Amino acid sequence: MTEETRKSSYPLASRAEDGHNTEIKVGNTLIGSSTFTVMAGPCAVESKDQLKSIAERVHESGVNILRGGAYKPRTSPYSFQGLEEEGLGYLGEIARPLGMGVITEIMDARDIPKFVDHVDILQVGARNMQNFTLLKELGKIRKPILLKRGMGSTLEELLGAAEYILKGGNKEVILCERGIRTFETATRATLDLSAVPVLKKMTHLPVIVDPSHAAGRSDIVPALALAACAVGADGIIVEVHDNPSKALCDGSQALSPEVFKTLVSKLKEMSPLVSKQFN
Ligand code: PEP
Ligand code: MN
Repeated sequence: MTEETRKSSYPLASRAEDGHNTEIKVGNTLIGSSTFTVMAGPCAVESKDQLKSIAERVHESGVNILRGGAYKPRTSPYSFQGLEEEGLGYLGEIARPLGMGVITEIMDARDIPKFVDHVDILQVGARNMQNFTLLKELGKIRKPILLKRGMGSTLEELLGAAEYILKGGNKEVILCERGIRTFETATRATLDLSAVPVLKKMTHLPVIVDPSHAAGRSDIVPALALAACAVGADGIIVEVHDNPSKALCDGSQALSPEVFKTLVSKLKEMSPLVSKQFN
């Protein structure tokens, strides 16, 4: 793609000559080029008690953004679909007293009004990266959007999708590399780590990594998370469960709170080495 086509396809997402980087504030947490941000929590909100105990453990490790799916995009319609509106309520109710921000996935633009009161960052999942109707509606709101890369999407397509949100006037878009489909079966997806430094050249938007959905197996998640930090990511989003074998969704890739705590302490040591402040 030539410089001219790039500028006409995603002018707002493109890195400008002045080299500025977008930084996004969520509560007291700054997400962007000067910081390394960790977002963590269960794949799905399963119950109030489950979410509360995981949120407390994650918060103890020094993390300020809680993840948890209330609306789950499952491959089979017979799998747990999430607690939906009830789950959104629990996220707000549990995160607020801990002073944590909330990130959760939105699948349907009609649900936007239900999200705005409880949620600080709205996540667009890999399966919806090119749901242009949803992206256009998210361009109209004034809340940060985490846009995950589709599992079969190029970086240009990711930036084109981000452009839909930016064009609507919502300037707060965070990109997320979460692994792409390849012929390899040892992992759930193949984490494209080179996407991080390449995106940093193409765009001013923050770029984070999801090592959990890329790996699909908890044993290699810490290594991928550290690699993401080393390669210049602005943060990670990680799945943590206090009883992974009983999780209703993605238990095999969930870190225990203990393993997560060790990972966070390593990330705190590593962040300054890549000129980033952990937050
Ligand atoms: C998730 O974060 O829960 C999720 C479904 O991720 P992805 O869209 O990357 O598969
Ligand atoms: Mn998951």
